[in-house]
Amino acid sequence: MKKLVVKIGSSVLTLENGNPDHARFKAFAKDISQVIEKGYAVVIVSSGAIAFGSSIAGKALAPVSIPNKQVLSSIGQPLLINEYMTNLKPYRKVVTQVLLTHEDFIDRQRYLNARKSMELMLEKGFIPVVNENDAIAVDEIKVGDNDTLSAMVAAMINADRLIILSNIDAIFDKDPHTHGDAKPINEIKQIDQYRIFEDSKSRYGVGGIKTKISAARQLARIGISTTIANGRVENIVTRLVNQFTQENGERLGTTVLAAQKKINGTKKWVSLLLKSSGSITVDEGALSAVLKNKSLLAAGIVNVSGTFKQGDVISIADVRGREVGRGITNYSGTEIEMIKGKKSSQINSSLGYFKGDEVIHRDNLIITPSIPIR
Ligand code: GLU
Repeated sequence: MKKLVVKIGSSVLTLENGNPDHARFKAFAKDISQVIEKGYAVVIVSSGAIAFGSSIAGKALAPVSIPNKQVLSSIGQPLLINEYMTNLKPYRKVVTQVLLTHEDFIDRQRYLNARKSMELMLEKGFIPVVNENDAIAVDEIKVGDNDTLSAMVAAMINADRLIILSNIDAIFDKDPHTHGDAKPINEIKQIDQYRIFEDSKSRYGVGGIKTKISAARQLARIGISTTIANGRVENIVTRLVNQFTQENGERLGTTVLAAQKKINGTKKWVSLLLKSSGSITVDEGALSAVLKNKSLLAAGIVNVSGTFKQGDVISIADVRGREVGRGITNYSGTEIEMIKGKKSSQINSSLGYFKGDEVIHRDNLIITPSIPIR
């Protein structure tokens, strides 16, 4: 069973006045049903809760602060789910609601629980509609945007592809608003070479290009392709799915191709955690060991930055400051500060205890293409 995650943004689902665009939901439900009939399992990641909540609350509660948005989302989320339920019912599709926060990804047990539950939903042919749990998500525990959330969900359920639908047709080679000759890019083979988009997000005049590219890049690293397309185009998901399976045909949107084969298990869990808590710099010797899929030991660590504790995900950087991998650390930042450069046999005398040879065990470590640390 092929699994698709389809992320749809508020801009596509909302009318000018902030109300839900019923016609759009209706068309989207038909589109999704068609894709399911073709044998795909679909997870929808849908925004719109805060926008719809605002349309009800009006002036009484403006979406200007986190507390206000928390309340607005709790007004809008049931409306959002209701749109999906009502519009998918004629196709005999059952909708489930899944509300997640960043914590559900960083806590291993919660992550596994969420994944298992979603897998069962898909197995039963239900359609999970996922959103951030905005009602309780204050800044510290927020994923923050649904592009990122959709990438995390795609990784979690081991999707075959992520489709991000917004109000742009594609990613262009230049700012289409200021360059008449800007051309849409149909396919990006090596996303890490397209740093230009991240730097020039505001100049593109299209909000959120940065998070879309970053979501696609993150997935490319673990072997999942992403297609960014216009959610206002009729039957867009069905057409994209046809496009994926046919050599010649339409070329809609921009597809960011997976940079490697799919990675499974713990390593994927590590890499999809988009916020690393800190980083350690390693010397040449440790770098080449890590690149050969060996565990990271204290001896090769030359520097520590950030505040992190045992069990956190941290970046591994080379001496030029480029991220080479990520992993779950067995030692806190403070501990690593005390044992860096030392042999395993010296750890006990430095700390007064010993938690193991590996600062990051190879099973909890993933190599990432070289990119500057954010
Ligand atoms: N979770 C937000 C909402 O439903 C949307 C976040 C986003 O648009 O990225 O309103």
